[in-house]
Amino acid sequence: MFIALNETDERIEIDNADPQKQYFCPICREPVIIRAKDSLAVRTHFAHKRRTQCLDDWSHDMSDWHYDWQQCFPKECREVVIENNGEKHRADVFIDDTVIEFQYSHITGEEFAKRNRFYISCGYKVVWVFDATDKIKNEYGDSIDPMRCWNNTLFWKSPRSEFAVTIPRNVTIYLQYKSPVSNEQYKNQLFDLMIRIKKITPEEFSFYQTYPRYILPVNFLKEYGADLPCLSISEILYPERIHEKTKPQPEESQPQATAQNSKGYEKVKSRVLNLGRIWIKHPWQK
Ligand SMILES: [Zn+2]
Repeated sequence: MFIALNETDERIEIDNADPQKQYFCPICREPVIIRAKDSLAVRTHFAHKRRTQCLDDWSHDMSDWHYDWQQCFPKECREVVIENNGEKHRADVFIDDTVIEFQYSHITGEEFAKRNRFYISCGYKVVWVFDATDKIKNEYGDSIDPMRCWNNTLFWKSPRSEFAVTIPRNVTIYLQYKSPVSNEQYKNQLFDLMIRIKKITPEEFSFYQTYPRYILPVNFLKEYGADLPCLSISEILYPERIHEKTKPQPEESQPQATAQNSKGYEKVKSRVLNLGRIWIKHPWQK
């Protein structure tokens, strides 16, 4: 975990933790220690002492990738404890009745289904973002760049038979990967791109086409509440929604005000803003 409680129950982020002080798990309240201080493979995080039995028995990924994504959201939305019928878990991000889980390491279909069931039983939507860099490829090579996918099919690099799932209602899956962009302006630069998945079987993924635009992390953040000057994922996938939006709207206060004003989004805005305007043409488009 990247956030633990101090002695007065305040939520303290790992980067602000004082090694001389004692911190506690927000779920089981057992003392936690600061782990992986000098590790390059995992980011420094709070961890239970060995053999502590925590009510949250799910394993949480502690990679830099995971941390960076989580940091894009306001602090109050990160590592939120969700309780239902005596069961308690920590959602990576909880925003607007949506749980967002960032998954860097391998997860089984069974584990995936279990987490979805829990959050759906609480009445929430679930969004997954998988790090697909170097883990998934298309038929024609190692890249999962949709520009080079002639059909919608992607494969696991090493097939894992247990990840065959039907995507339940209220669950949305995105893959994030790195790819060079092949237009003049951004030639040879590696970008973080995302695709939304339609279907998963043990051998293949199929995804939604988003030409002529790519989905970028900035579009994802816009979709889930950030106030950024770009299109949201729904606007990319369903362009008619842009027109709906430009119609005059009855005056209404925006429910996402707290998220929009937060420092977290300001930070991400400066980090990703210059990626927000990419417009990529398909090679055979005029
Ligand atoms: Zn615990």
